[in-house]
Amino acid sequence: MGATIIDGKRIADAVRAELRPRIAGLRARGVTPGLAAVIVGDDPASVLYVKMKSQACEEMGLHSVTLRLPADAPEAGLLAEVRGLNADPGVHGILVQQPLPSQISTMRAVSSVSVDKDVDCFHPENVGLVLIGAPRFAPATPAGVIELLVRSGNDPGGKHVVILGRSNIVGRPLAALLMQKAAGANATVTVCHSATRDLPAITRTADILVAAIGRAEFVTAAMVKPGAVVIDVGINRVADATRKSGFRTVGDVRFAEVSGVASAITPVPGGVGPMTIAMLLSNTVRAAEIAAA
Ligand code: NAP
Repeated sequence: MGATIIDGKRIADAVRAELRPRIAGLRARGVTPGLAAVIVGDDPASVLYVKMKSQACEEMGLHSVTLRLPADAPEAGLLAEVRGLNADPGVHGILVQQPLPSQISTMRAVSSVSVDKDVDCFHPENVGLVLIGAPRFAPATPAGVIELLVRSGNDPGGKHVVILGRSNIVGRPLAALLMQKAAGANATVTVCHSATRDLPAITRTADILVAAIGRAEFVTAAMVKPGAVVIDVGINRVADATRKSGFRTVGDVRFAEVSGVASAITPVPGGVGPMTIAMLLSNTVRAAEIAAA
């Protein structure tokens, strides 16, 4: 059996196309949605992500601001920049790129972003609203996973979804969204982590398996129930002497062998990644619409 490839690029393009008339509507009223990213240090993956976000803003006619602080910037400096962005009427969405260096508290940084501009949905108030089923913004990567499922004809309603990973960025908020009594959710959710016993026995019960652990090609065919849908959130660099860069990007799933067992699967790259950016743009447009209302 060969799995259907869930094309994240195509689905992200569809999400973006739906945003265009909303952006045009805002611009007709003199409002250009604006997204600001603050990055501390020069972690290559973070720099790349922020660059992709800024390119996406340009392509969609959004205003984009990137503030780069040195790796040794004090916490007070970062918080002052965020305060400035909170007060800037041209900025509707703010993201503070993680990971942050050790001198900066991630909790204080995410809590400093205005709840109305928190398009990454990391502020504790917005996290709480997601949990109780009344989200102001849906967190970008988890919302992207759900859009991929729904738009590829794999609605999670009534299904058993097993999530590998319980981070605040992916696993936890995804579980919170999927368990809601709502369209595109209504799943029975199991969350696994590094202390889970007999992981393969649990993953084999999944109708939908989401891998978000950051371990290259960790999920094997033997861990997947025949016919399951597999969503690979992982982005991992592995050494590859045949590439000019010296590395290639792989997911948390052994794509070739799992494709022989699953009914549908996302590739890496070209799966969840483009959706994260599309959902971030969507949240920024929503923030601008709320601000302009
Ligand atoms: P993270 O903060 O490192 O969390 C990893 C999670 O996986 C933790 O909950 C950890 O368990 C669990 N885990 C690690 N090894 C495990 C194992 N052997 N068995 C079971 N569970 C294990 O990572 P993250 O930020 O969630 O990111 C996960 C991956 O997704 C990374 O590759 C990242 O680059 C990628 N990512 C992609 C996107 C995208 O847009 N495509 C967005 C965000 C992240 P404990 O809690 O017990 O430590």
